[in-house]
Amino acid sequence: MLIKRIGLFCALYFMVTHSWSAALLKDVRMAKHNNQVRLVLDLDSNVNTHVFSLQNPHRLVIDLENTILSKSIKKDNLQNNFIRDIRFGGGVKEALRVVLDVARITKFTHFMIPGNQTQNTRMVVDISFPENSSKLSQNQVSSDLLRDIRIVIDPGHGGKDPGAIGPNGTWESVVALAVSQRLAEQINKTQDMRAFLTRSGDSFVPLRDRMEIARERKADLFVSIHADALDNNPRVRGASIYTLSDKGAVDEASKRLAKRENEDISIGDVSLSGKDDSFASLMMDLSQGATNEASLEIGEFVLTELSRVSSIRKKKVQQSGLLVLKSPDVPSILIETTYISNPNEEKKLKDRNFQNKLANAILKGVRNYFLVNPPEETKFAKNLQNQSRTISYIVRRGDTLSEIADLYSISLSVLRRFNQINGSNIKIGQTLQIPLYY
Ligand SMILES: [Zn+2]
Repeated sequence: MLIKRIGLFCALYFMVTHSWSAALLKDVRMAKHNNQVRLVLDLDSNVNTHVFSLQNPHRLVIDLENTILSKSIKKDNLQNNFIRDIRFGGGVKEALRVVLDVARITKFTHFMIPGNQTQNTRMVVDISFPENSSKLSQNQVSSDLLRDIRIVIDPGHGGKDPGAIGPNGTWESVVALAVSQRLAEQINKTQDMRAFLTRSGDSFVPLRDRMEIARERKADLFVSIHADALDNNPRVRGASIYTLSDKGAVDEASKRLAKRENEDISIGDVSLSGKDDSFASLMMDLSQGATNEASLEIGEFVLTELSRVSSIRKKKVQQSGLLVLKSPDVPSILIETTYISNPNEEKKLKDRNFQNKLANAILKGVRNYFLVNPPEETKFAKNLQNQSRTISYIVRRGDTLSEIADLYSISLSVLRRFNQINGSNIKIGQTLQIPLYY
């Protein structure tokens, strides 16, 4: 009875503590015996794990749910003739991903040893390699094989669909293309991202085709750029960001917007009327869940950056039933840069400086998202792990975490993650690492 109670208490205690704080991966150790490698991951608490292997090149992936990486982990003794490299990256939902670049694996097993007062919780991973496994070629995973992060930029409207028209006759399709081109230029200036446009001129592209381009490019992100008009209110200005909601349009504004944007398809793409369309939408909605969360997160990062250079109309990411965002496997956001129905904003939208400012803010927001969620096998992820492009910041009296984050144009969550801070408590004299990606 007593044991049962203790067990129950422990279970409850575990659930409570676990939901509030992430586990810490404190150390990784490795031992090799003949063609066997044993990997031991020292953790400060039990975690859910998922282990799987990948090929071309051979990798073993260990996902640790709700876990963060200790800064003190050294990779020095973690290589041998079977294991070329070990990398750490963020996965979805606060998972820590440990990736081993390995020779061909014949078998792997793993188990967890609970911790006690003197021992850490340990995850043990045993990996067997073929008896006659030859040494790894040093170039097996060269950085040449790592890919760029791929962003598909979608300038709204175009061709026979000019979008909204400003009071002085400016077409939304024209300024959307201009901002998109500025964004593509900036993205292509980075050495780890690559941009693709759904249209590069004044052409009409049906919404479904725009989504299809993102899928074909295996994009990490789809960004649709707009500058719509708001009926009967020329004073409205400021940016807002939409992601797809599960249940379609949520608030009245997004409903109207959804209606207007979705009318694009009835103009150009007759084949989408009728049952085929609703069937396709249904199928896509079914597989939308995971991507929606990523979209929402990216949206928040971008909105934060836009608020530094422009006014914001909606402080929260709006969820909408926009068809252009219904790509099942590509996180997608729609940015209303501002409203072309406002004469001042119309003028600004034509200004190259303003276009560049908007583009830069979008880029920063996107990069901040990828800092937390680096896509696998990308140069970006590799750089993040290999180079410490950071500066030290010593906390002074009166500093707050959010002010420091603002100072360096990074998001609070990035700052927290880099420094493994869960709440917002910092101490005077404490040294924070600030990632400098710009
Ligand atoms: Zn539009």
